[in-house]
Amino acid sequence: MSPAHGYHFAPRALRRWRDERLTLTPRMEGGWQARFHFEGSTCGNVPFVLHYDIEVDAAGLIVGLHAAAAPGDEGHQSMCRHREDAASLREELATQGPLRGRPLADVLAWKPATSPAGCVCTAPARAHKWLAALQTLHFALSEPKAPAASAPPHVPDTAGQNSPVQTHANPAAGASAVSPSAVTAAVARAPAPHCVPLSSSAPLS
Ligand SMILES: [Zn+2]
Repeated sequence: MSPAHGYHFAPRALRRWRDERLTLTPRMEGGWQARFHFEGSTCGNVPFVLHYDIEVDAAGLIVGLHAAAAPGDEGHQSMCRHREDAASLREELATQGPLRGRPLADVLAWKPATSPAGCVCTAPARAHKWLAALQTLHFALSEPKAPAASAPPHVPDTAGQNSPVQTHANPAAGASAVSPSAVTAAVARAPAPHCVPLSSSAPLS
């Protein structure tokens, strides 16, 4: 938990997931259709990809939640839980998304029991992936991707205003005692084997 900015995950992780894992499509009736690509790995170190599809309406309410293996993905079948009971795992992924009907902003206050495992075999592991998907979506809508990936977000283009400070919209960011470099470095590392955290478990609570 990083209290200074309200998210469970480090800002650097959220930025990377927004840029690399999230696809945002505007809905015709307003709001967004979002897809979060989760790259996991099983106990046998088999990589797999799940798609987390989230729909938010024009009022900011979560109106759709659905998770499933990416089309053509076979790796997910090696998950221990999938081997034991594939049908119920599929069912839970597809129907047990959290915060349905609630404002997307509620994901900042949602504190489920989580496990940063590489798989989604257990309820806490599934909650952890939903938390990542939903908080990445919230982050992306609050701080949209900049055209230049290296540019810091929310830096005004105004000529003559060159102050590097106070460029962030979030007032809490001023008190940013967050993220020692060890934290962000750990988060940046890609998960490899089974049960390796989606982001380092160390800074998470
Ligand atoms: Zn497993």
